[in-house]
Amino acid sequence: MSIPRNVTLLGSTGSIGTQTLEVCRKHNIKVKALTANKSGRLLCEQAREFRPEYVCVMDASCYDYVRTELADTDIKILCGMEGLCEVASVKVDIVVNAVVGMVGLRPTLAALDSGNQVALANKETLVTGGELVMKKAAEKNLPIIPIDSEHSAIFQSLMGNEKNKIDKILLTASGGPFYGYSYEQLKAVTKAQALKHPNWAMGQKITIDSATLMNKGLELIEAVWLFDTAPDDIEILVHRQSILHSAVQYADGSIIGQLGVPDMKIPIQLALTYPERFDCDVKRLSLADVGTLTFARADEETFLCLASAKKAIKRRGTACTVLNSANETAVELFLQDKIPFYRIGELVAGALEEAKPADIVTLETVLETEIAAREYVKSKI
Ligand code: MN
Repeated sequence: MSIPRNVTLLGSTGSIGTQTLEVCRKHNIKVKALTANKSGRLLCEQAREFRPEYVCVMDASCYDYVRTELADTDIKILCGMEGLCEVASVKVDIVVNAVVGMVGLRPTLAALDSGNQVALANKETLVTGGELVMKKAAEKNLPIIPIDSEHSAIFQSLMGNEKNKIDKILLTASGGPFYGYSYEQLKAVTKAQALKHPNWAMGQKITIDSATLMNKGLELIEAVWLFDTAPDDIEILVHRQSILHSAVQYADGSIIGQLGVPDMKIPIQLALTYPERFDCDVKRLSLADVGTLTFARADEETFLCLASAKKAIKRRGTACTVLNSANETAVELFLQDKIPFYRIGELVAGALEEAKPADIVTLETVLETEIAAREYVKSKI
């Protein structure tokens, strides 16, 4: 595509959203629409700078504020899920979906329905609706371009190798702040420790998911959908330095991977400019400075979330929605100091046992499953 003329950015005030706008600013890409959950002030600042045709806020309590703030502009202000799907449907070169949580599913389907290409940073979309999204993308003959650093790395490792037989995907994981901990040690960790990621600066939800390894579990599911791979053909590789962002092993035994500094601007920019590469404002990687790269197997016995994710994707149906929704709810409760850290894994595993997933995946069964899993977790507090 090279540099797109215009983009719609769903979730513009989060970590990926603001970095996407940095890329747009650098390459003079027109922003057609911006959306936020409830960060109204930042959304309005962004709207003043980028002058989109549309903005949308999810949270209704924020709508009046945004409307008043932008009253002197001709920007169309929308609200809620309906507004989000409406802006996703406006014709652009690419829709960047950087919202947090499974709220990203419906706008992704809406974007594809309107023939918009989608760059996906919102992993919950594929985790809960992978079957729906990939079917729709195939039907519309639109690629889904991954922004998640590991999936971008796999995507890049596959470039030019479309016809070659893959042996397996190597999905790298930093291991998070509690790498090497025993289950007993996990019981004593604090919120401040869990929120301190060794390599990446990210939003709170994903930082906790990295600490529980649920993030890697969600990424495994994401990879199954994006690359049409069997779960057993994906190896989770703990790589503490976050320099090799993932790799693919081919039939001849060769491993091709992508390396770089841990900076999301690289995968964000490539998603917008694929298959071309342009200057990017990131530090150059010096392998000599890094010196040592280490690799190890992941500990699924301590980090229950990872084992649960594997179970869920093998079970198919809406099992991954149970997993994701239970996790979203448990992480919220943890961030509100209502449960200790180690309970997140237990609650997710419990939900997978108790909340019954549907066999057929439709938007309706996904949404029903989401509610049931959330109720399950809340009932256990
Ligand atoms: Mn990632």
